[in-house]
Amino acid sequence: MNVGYFLYDLLVHNEEFVGRSDISEFSAYEDVQNPPITLLTCADSRIQGQILGMDLINKVFTVRNAGNQVARNKGSLAYALTVLNTEIFLILGHTNCGAVNFAAGACLAKVRTLKETNKASVIEPALNEEKIPGGINLTFSKEKSMSIHRLQKVDFSVVGRDVQREMLPLTLPIEKVIARLPKIGNEKKELAYLSQANVDYQVEKALEYYGDRVKENKLVIVGGVYDFVGAYSSTRGRVVITNINGLNDKMKLQENVRTYCASDDTFDKSGELYKLCCKLIEEKVSRI
Ligand SMILES: [Zn+2]
Repeated sequence: MNVGYFLYDLLVHNEEFVGRSDISEFSAYEDVQNPPITLLTCADSRIQGQILGMDLINKVFTVRNAGNQVARNKGSLAYALTVLNTEIFLILGHTNCGAVNFAAGACLAKVRTLKETNKASVIEPALNEEKIPGGINLTFSKEKSMSIHRLQKVDFSVVGRDVQREMLPLTLPIEKVIARLPKIGNEKKELAYLSQANVDYQVEKALEYYGDRVKENKLVIVGGVYDFVGAYSSTRGRVVITNINGLNDKMKLQENVRTYCASDDTFDKSGELYKLCCKLIEEKVSRI
């Protein structure tokens, strides 16, 4: 993008936002923010707020990093969850996540450590590591999937050590599930499955830190995957709910979402939108 074009966009389009905003909107939150939702998502440019379909100002406290990792921004998340007391914590991964794919490539190459020198860094194979912890053998000689074939070509040298350091913790959730990929048998679904596994892991992490708030009914942790490739269904652009408070059984999850929706008295339960919501629970509360 031409810098002049960017600056033009910044000046002109922000002024359009100013023009259509009511001054009372700013006054409402000029002294304090009170968002009900904390969103942790990947820094990937393909994920933007409008996918949630709502006006996010003063509603969503957003924290982003590569691979939507809870441990990377503990301070910002603690502020949102324990000082601002947001009631909902949405951890949103996405299909075809570069950070997850990087970690999967590292698992396949059996590398999980970063050797650092003054001049450069090299990701090193773990010594004599035939099997990853947990005993899953990463040899796929017979049933190698397309995604594994692609992930084995990950070139670690193209990213610097700061990037590598940030991505390598993602090998922890990925190495637990990567051996299941050949059984899925569909490249889009296989990669989405890895993102889903990462979200499960991040929800687990969040429960470690904030489980007390969940038990006290002060917080609900929702895990989801933004599916822009059509891995969960043929409809692209859907946010799929894959985990609630660590619950990750599809049928139980759907029941859980139905219960939450049914207990909210603000909906007209006989209206068309509520019927649509019930239908969408079956399609968008899902798992691979
Ligand atoms: Zn990503």
